Amino acid sequence: MRPTPDKPPVPRKPLDKAPTPLQDRCQSCGMPLKTGIPMDQAFLGTAADGSPVQEYCKFCFQNGAFVEPTITLQDMIAKSVSHMTRVMHYPADQAKELSTEVIPKLSRWQKSDPTAA
Ligand SMILES: [Zn+2]
Repeated sequence: MRPTPDKPPVPRKPLDKAPTPLQDRCQSCGMPLKTGIPMDQAFLGTAADGSPVQEYCKFCFQNGAFVEPTITLQDMIAKSVSHMTRVMHYPADQAKELSTEVIPKLSRWQKSDPTAA
């Protein structure tokens, strides 16, 4: 029997706070919608009949329509960065990085082909 060579213990990575999966975010602005906190419902957008929709937050989608139907992806990213820095106190760098990473992948921005216009 051979002694197994001493392996240094694998350092456990501190759990990064798990990023909210894309499907749990508003598909327009990237705001996490399903955080598990009871006030979640208050942030859901509304369908034409006033019932909550699961895909969008109320800042983006109300009564079955986008609040700002003409907003561009770039504007949305800028808005998000500004919200994250002013309201959530993210460092500007991080807010920008997160927004540019997440928002273009959301379904609202997947449909529109910027070269089509
Ligand atoms: Zn939104």
